[in-house]
Amino acid sequence: MTEQYAVIGLGRFGLSIATKLFESGKEVLGVDVNEERVDDAHPYTTHALIADSTDAEALKSIGIRNIDTVIVAIGNDIQASILSVLLLKELGVKKVIAKALNKLHGQVLKKVGADWVVYPERDMGIRVAHQLLSPNVLNFIEISKDYSVEEVKIPEKMTEKTLRELDLRAKFNLTVIAIRHGHEINITPSPDKKIARGDVLVVIGENSDLEQFSNIE
Ligand code: ATP
Repeated sequence: MTEQYAVIGLGRFGLSIATKLFESGKEVLGVDVNEERVDDAHPYTTHALIADSTDAEALKSIGIRNIDTVIVAIGNDIQASILSVLLLKELGVKKVIAKALNKLHGQVLKKVGADWVVYPERDMGIRVAHQLLSPNVLNFIEISKDYSVEEVKIPEKMTEKTLRELDLRAKFNLTVIAIRHGHEINITPSPDKKIARGDVLVVIGENSDLEQFSNIE
């Protein structure tokens, strides 16, 4: 059966999540107290309806407990966000993801049962700064505080060399896990494969080593 999602709060953040999930073929229920927001969400959701997520009866009547994952994308009304998470967990929703505006809000959301708390403004700020500091980095995922996976544009002077010649493991303490060439991705790159101009390396390693590598001119 298709995985079912509900997004509560159809602002920019909630609607982006709903749209992406819906476009990926998932069943998405959109919920908001605001009629206009619900109307605007119809094309991007399986169903969109008006309900107040701080009202337990309303949540029950829309069958929220049968939904696998619920995203609480309410930000500014901190009280509503906390109460919604609490009710959803009490009603037995397995996975509740909630947006926090700040650290304290996030801590409270965790306390009332949120399975995953996201900080979109903070995380986006970190991402933008990271990309300003390392312009060759196209994308990154933090695996832990110290380790990440990064997509790095190959520096000019490293093109037309093989992975064996580049020897990033010895020189930078990094492991290449894939090479992206246009839309093609090679996840088992041979050590003798030459890296072409414009290729992107997907590398894993310690942040300090990644920073050194991604700042090569
Ligand atoms: P964004 O930053 O995502 O654009 P926003 O600035 O519009 O959001 P938020 O306060 O984060 O404002 O609210 C997001 C949405 O959550 C709004 O559309 C709002 O109507 C909805 N919302 C607020 N409280 C509730 C509630 N109790 N039940 C359902 N939806 C709610």
